[in-house]
Amino acid sequence: MRYSQSLIPTLKENPAEAEIASHRLLLRAGYIRKLTAGIYSYLPLGLAAIRKVEQIVREEMNRAGAQELLMPMVQPADLWRETGRYEKYGPELLRFQDRHERESCLGPTHEEVITDLARREIRSYRDLPKNLYQIQTKFRDEIRPRFGLMRGREFLMKDGYSFDVDDTRAGETYQLMFDAYKRIFTRCGLDFRPVEADSGSIGGSFSHEFMVLADTGEDTLVICSNCDYAANSEKAAVVPPVTDNSPLLEMEKVETPGKRKVPAVCEFMAIEPSELVKTMVYKADGEPVAILVRGDREVQGVKLKNLLGVADVEMADDKEVYDATGVPTGYLGPVGIPIKLLVDQEVAAMRNFVVGANEKNYHMKNVNMGRDFEAAAVADLRQISPDDPCPSCGSALGLKEGIEVGHVFKLGTGYSEAMNAVFQDQDGKDKPMVMGCYGIGISRIVAAAIEQNHDENGMIFPMPLAPLQVILLNLGLNDEQITETAESLYNDLQDKGIEVLLDDRDERPGFKFKDADLLGIPLRITVGKRLSKDGIVELRHRSNGATEELAPEQIVSRISELIEEAMSNKTIS
Ligand code: ATP
Ligand code: MG
Repeated sequence: MRYSQSLIPTLKENPAEAEIASHRLLLRAGYIRKLTAGIYSYLPLGLAAIRKVEQIVREEMNRAGAQELLMPMVQPADLWRETGRYEKYGPELLRFQDRHERESCLGPTHEEVITDLARREIRSYRDLPKNLYQIQTKFRDEIRPRFGLMRGREFLMKDGYSFDVDDTRAGETYQLMFDAYKRIFTRCGLDFRPVEADSGSIGGSFSHEFMVLADTGEDTLVICSNCDYAANSEKAAVVPPVTDNSPLLEMEKVETPGKRKVPAVCEFMAIEPSELVKTMVYKADGEPVAILVRGDREVQGVKLKNLLGVADVEMADDKEVYDATGVPTGYLGPVGIPIKLLVDQEVAAMRNFVVGANEKNYHMKNVNMGRDFEAAAVADLRQISPDDPCPSCGSALGLKEGIEVGHVFKLGTGYSEAMNAVFQDQDGKDKPMVMGCYGIGISRIVAAAIEQNHDENGMIFPMPLAPLQVILLNLGLNDEQITETAESLYNDLQDKGIEVLLDDRDERPGFKFKDADLLGIPLRITVGKRLSKDGIVELRHRSNGATEELAPEQIVSRISELIEEAMSNKTIS
C-alpha cells in the first residue's frame, strides 16, 4: 500500500467530540469517520484492523467446530412477537414498516432468526449438535451512543448460536465457546478477564462476559482478592446484612430547612449517611416506583429491572418525582408514599433511621419498616461496594473498570419453546432444542485494544491486530539511492507476504515520523541520509521506541523474524 494513493486522512488537532483515547486516535489517525450519531465509516486502515479481529475470531470459531453463515439484517416483527421480544426489547430495537406496511425491525441480535432456521431445518437428534455463527452489522438504537466504536448504534458483531439435545451437551458447548473466547482475546493481545454476568434482554440462565481491563470501561467489575470470584457489578450479589435488633424508638418529625441532599441533612442532624435512608424514584417502563437504599449506597439499575421484569428503568427527574408523589425533591420518604415502594435488603435490616417526611423542609427520624411503612418487595437492589465481602468466600473485594468485548449465554429452552423449535429424540418424542448464544463486539475490540495500547503520540497496535505490520518511510524522494532502496524493500517485503505501508509522500521527515507514530503500526523502517553515509537503514519498534540499525539486505529477514515472534507470543498451544 502506498501512502500517496491511500485514504488516510490524519488530523493534527484532537477532535472536540472525542472523550476517550480510542475515539480520539481513531479519528485523528484517519481510521474512521462519523456519518451521524453512533454511525461510522471504516476507512481503509480501520477496516484492515477490523479484518484482523475477524480473522482471529473466524479461525478460533472454526477450530471449535462452529460454522459460519450470514443472516439478514431486516427481520419481520412477527418472528419477534413469537418470543414476546417485539414488545419487550425496548427502544434499542429499531422498528419500521415497509411499503406494504409490514412491521419489521433491524436486527440487534439474531436469536429469533436462527431459531426459526433451526425449527425448519433440524428434525432429529441425528441433526444435532449445531453451532452456527455470523459476522455482521448490528443495529441498536442506543440511548447514548458515544466513545466512537465503543458504543455505536451500528456496529460489527460476531454472534453465534448453538443447539444441543440436552442440558449436559449444551453445557459442554458453552465450555467449548468459553475456551474459544479465551483463545480469541489472548491472540488479540488483550489484557482481559471473564466475569459472571447478567443476561439482560437476551435472557437465559447463566452467562459470562469477557472484559478488557481499562479505566475508561463503562462496566464495573468486582474481583475477589482471594478466590476465583469475578462478576459484573450488575450481577454481583450483595451479602445480606445482619438485622439490627435495637428497640424501636418513637418516630419524630424534624425540621430540616433547605436540607435536600444526603450530606447536608447528615451534617444538620449530626448523623452518618449510613443512618439515613434515601428514597429514589425510577421510571420502570414509564411507571414510577420508589426504592429505598442507605444514604451512602446507589441503586443498581439492572437488579431493579430484573426484579420488576421490565424492559427499561430510568431515574425520574425532579418534575416527574413531583408529579408522581406531590413531594419536592429532597424530602421524599416511605411513610405514606403514594407509589409502589421497593426496599433494599440492607434497609430492611436497619432500625430507627432517618428519611424524608414527604413535606418540604422536614425529615423523619426513628423510622422503621413494618411499623411505619410496608414494602411491596425487599430485595438486593443496590450496587455492591468495595467494603462488601466476596459473595463466594467472604474475603475483601476489589473493583475495576472494564470494557465488555464478549458475552456467552446459556439460553436453555426459552427461545426453542416459545418458537416450537423441537427435534425428535431417540425415544421418538419431540423435545425443545437446548440453546446457547455467544457474542463478540468486533468493532469494539479495535477500540478496546487502543484503550490498552497507546501513548501521547498515538496508537500502539499489538501485532496481531495491526492493520499493517510495517511502515516504510522514504525520506529522500529526490535521492535516487534512497528511493531505489525504499522501493526495493517495499517490493521484497510484499513478496514475503509482509503487510507494508510505503510513505512515498512528498513531506518533511518530521511530518512523516509524526504520522507513523499516530498510525500505531508496530514496525517502522526509515530509509534516509544514513543510507548514503553509512549504508544503514533504521528499524524502530513502535511499542518501546527501540531502534536497530541494519543494512538494507538484513531488513526482510529481521522483520520476518520479529513478526513471527510477535504472533507466536500471542498464540496458545
Ligand atoms: P453493553 O452492555 O455494552 O450494551 P450488551 O450486553 O448489550 O453490551 P450483547 O448483547 O452481549 O451486548 O452483545 C455482544 C457484544 O457486542 C458485546 O459483548 C459487545 O462487545 C458488543 N456490543 C454491544 N453493544 C454494542 C454497541 N452499541 N457498540 C459496539 N459494540 C457493542
Ligand atoms: Mg447493550
